[in-house]
Amino acid sequence: MSAALAAIGVLVAGGCRGPADSMQAKRNDMVERQIAARGVRDPRVLEAMRAVPRHLFVSPAEADSAYDDRPLPIGSGQTISQPYVVAFMAEQLRLTGKEKVLEIGTGSGYSTAILASLAGKVYSIEIRPELSLEAKERLLKLGVKNVELRAADGYRGWPEQAPFDAILVTAAPEKVPPPLLEQLSASGRMVIPVGAFYQELKVIKRQGGGYTEKSVLPVRFVPFVGEAEGVPPPPRDPATAR
Ligand code: SAH
Repeated sequence: MSAALAAIGVLVAGGCRGPADSMQAKRNDMVERQIAARGVRDPRVLEAMRAVPRHLFVSPAEADSAYDDRPLPIGSGQTISQPYVVAFMAEQLRLTGKEKVLEIGTGSGYSTAILASLAGKVYSIEIRPELSLEAKERLLKLGVKNVELRAADGYRGWPEQAPFDAILVTAAPEKVPPPLLEQLSASGRMVIPVGAFYQELKVIKRQGGGYTEKSVLPVRFVPFVGEAEGVPPPPRDPATAR
């Protein structure tokens, strides 16, 4: 059986009861040493990190390094975040299983798969069409069904599906895009890296009429490109975009 098929078994079985793929021991070790040891406690997050086959989200040449304690290249100059950072961000969103989640920065689709196993439905936007397409194929192969992907600039969010109970941003803008704040539900949470060279991971909560914000971790993400950097948005009708 291929690794991908084994992985479907793992995902479909809800994480721990399916047949273990060849990398299961590495994943268990990653969760214990890199994630639980650093204070991530949410059992659902730890289970998701044990279940999702991270090595299938990097190029075959990088598969052996997939469970190392660092980010890895995923092509187009982008990176898949360090496992601990993915787990930490997911825990900060406090997902319980039913939430509607927006992700900006699909990249390889790895964090999308983690979110999909923690929430009800995940909408994920990636500005680089080639990465979005690869992520779509991967998630399909793995049998992850509760996700919808879009290749676009995520600056304006996904207004047709708003509001979202949780928003995860995996590229760093210098300022939080206002449309994303507006698309948070009444008690929604956003986790977003903010800054240029020095970035802080922020947790923003919508509460009453306003927002609370706290910095929780110094981080280093790829830049949030496009409209956030002053690039004008494309015309609204895709038929007139070229
Ligand atoms: N979550 C990803 C991490 C990818 S790195 C993973 O687990 O693999 C961040 C991604 O954000 C990159 O793929 C980059 O192309 C994308 N990105 C940058 N600016 C963006 C924007 N304005 N809208 C959508 N995606 C963006």
